[in-house]
Amino acid sequence: MSAPETSDRSAQSDTRLRDRHVVVTGGAQGIGRGIAVRCARAGADVTVFDLDTETAAETADAVRGLGREAAVVEVDVADEASVDRGVEEAVATFGPINGVVNNAGIQRSVPLLETSEAEWDRHFAVNAKGTFLVAKRVAGQMIADDVAGSIVNISSVGAERPFTGQGAYGASKAAVLTLTTVLAKELAEHGITANAIKPGTVETPMVTQWLEEKAAQSGQSPDEVLSESLSSHILDRPAQPEEIGHVAVLLLSDEGEWITGESIAVDGGYLKG
Ligand code: NAP
Repeated sequence: MSAPETSDRSAQSDTRLRDRHVVVTGGAQGIGRGIAVRCARAGADVTVFDLDTETAAETADAVRGLGREAAVVEVDVADEASVDRGVEEAVATFGPINGVVNNAGIQRSVPLLETSEAEWDRHFAVNAKGTFLVAKRVAGQMIADDVAGSIVNISSVGAERPFTGQGAYGASKAAVLTLTTVLAKELAEHGITANAIKPGTVETPMVTQWLEEKAAQSGQSPDEVLSESLSSHILDRPAQPEEIGHVAVLLLSDEGEWITGESIAVDGGYLKG
């Protein structure tokens, strides 16, 4: 089953984020790029935070190609000073931030008994602490700028139904869900919402790498690992990155203003499969 081709058409007249400023972390490629482009289709100007500024420049070009403004800032989400500088630069460039998508993340497939302390710590530094640092800094900025904004955190179905090898990854993504609940509770008085998205299998460089690692561990081919994974998704196909972007736009828009503290599976039915 292939991805529907209606996405572009349905987004053509979308103005839900018109003239809003959205920051997308890890927006150089994969889901982050899909979210950045989808936000631009809805009218947003986008600042991309990433370690890889060269690839992130391609995302910025895609956003500009849709008639919106884009900027790239080199940010390591796991480093508070880097996050501080990134937010300052984003605000100096496009003004107050209306929404942030905490998408930057890493995943290595390693059985728990072989997981080193350094691997465990890096998953938590990027996936959990990185989400905390960016959410904290951006929320503080929203409050200072009197913006009733939205925070969208990209967790994973792996937080609830992990594969083998996803010990550190799944635990760090479960931390993102807990963080999202507390952000929602503590920021409500400022008019800020916080929600999480739990993607299933999405066609990105991260998944390509995951398939190769799982294949090496199991003796299967990457294609066999993929079809085994997809057989657990009711819709039996991977998502394209913009399909995660559709839901991010909803949560960032006025249509999502009554949704907070929620975690939404965008997973082709994986958690129910
Ligand atoms: P991806 O293809 O690996 O892209 C992730 C991006 O984040 C890369 O550009 C990466 O830059 C950047 N990044 C990594 N560490 C960073 C850091 N410390 N600071 C700033 N940027 C950093 O991954 P993806 O598949 O698009 O996944 C995006 C998010 O969705 C992740 O949080 C992932 O866990 C989650 N997710 C993905 C899937 C899926 O099926 N793809 C499913 C569930 C959840 P570098 O390349 O320079 O490291």
